[in-house]
Amino acid sequence: MAMKYIDEYRDTDLSKKLLDKIERISRRPVSLMEFCGGHTVAIMRSGIRQVLPDTIRMLSGPGCPVCATANRDIDHAIALAEIPGAILTTFGDMMKVPGSYSSLQVARAEGRDIRIVYSVLDALQIARDNPKRPVIFVGIGFETTAPTIAAGVLKAMEEKLSNFSVLCLLKKTPPVMQVILDMGEIRLDGIICPGHVSSIIGTRPYDYLASNYGIACAVSGFETVDILYAILLLVGQIESGKPQVDIAYRRSVTREGNRRALELMDQTFDTCSAGWRGIGTISESGMALAHDYGQFDAGKIFSVSMKPPKEPAGCICGEILRGIKTPIDCRLFRKVCIPENPVGPCMVSSEGACAAYYSYGAINE
Ligand code: SF4
Repeated sequence: MAMKYIDEYRDTDLSKKLLDKIERISRRPVSLMEFCGGHTVAIMRSGIRQVLPDTIRMLSGPGCPVCATANRDIDHAIALAEIPGAILTTFGDMMKVPGSYSSLQVARAEGRDIRIVYSVLDALQIARDNPKRPVIFVGIGFETTAPTIAAGVLKAMEEKLSNFSVLCLLKKTPPVMQVILDMGEIRLDGIICPGHVSSIIGTRPYDYLASNYGIACAVSGFETVDILYAILLLVGQIESGKPQVDIAYRRSVTREGNRRALELMDQTFDTCSAGWRGIGTISESGMALAHDYGQFDAGKIFSVSMKPPKEPAGCICGEILRGIKTPIDCRLFRKVCIPENPVGPCMVSSEGACAAYYSYGAINE
């Protein structure tokens, strides 16, 4: 049975036609970055990189929230789990991510009460069920996840759930794109902008990339046809010398974004600086709970001590997230570092570049 909005975006004939068009208009060498880890996985799984003309080089970017979370923040989550009586709740991807000295998985094996949840609503329920224990939710993600966490905080306030709090590690995507361009480590001609994030923030926040930096932009969905169409739009912009922000994912993304979600975020969060793995602190790239919701801010409520953060020896996740290296460049890849024994976060996360190369690279490298 055909599935609307799925099969039509996996259509082989349409993919071939798009590829033909890309080959026809692509004349000069270009470097394109897929910002989002979901796109990295989709590109590796479909083998798109291998069928593109030689003129097009694809680079992966920092758009995997688990991978981009700094070790200091993972250490903070582990320290919070050590508070007597605390229940730490987190998305499953975070469990195996190595911090500086341990991981949430190891902390759980050592007796901490750390529970995997699928949404902030699960964490709220755990708080209701355990009124005498502090329940802390590790809030990681980009603008896609932020509205649901905002809604969870508002719900906690409405219910006066005084034992619930959030370690808010949310990040904004446009500022890190600007920092990557300003660092000048890679030459970029175009960016495949994230699909899910853009369904929330719209496309206006990317305008400066085209107008100030001359970078071609196209928002893409996650199916093969979506990505090929986005690449076609990018190459068209570059060849015509007219960079702009195109949408190749109109079934989900508008120029204005999701107004209700943006209002929720505005109400609940203040913009703050945030630490990014491999990049450092970026001003105005984080979301912190606003003053009115400080009672739910685990970072403020609980004082914990942590040793100075350190990176895993030999791991080049930071350079991979900046697009200057690929997992193949890592001497630990597939030898020491495998999904069952990950050395760095890019091998843990379902959106991590190393995990994608590990799963699909053998056939598609
Ligand atoms: Fe880090 Fe492992 Fe990726 Fe190497 S293969 S960069 S050690 S996560």
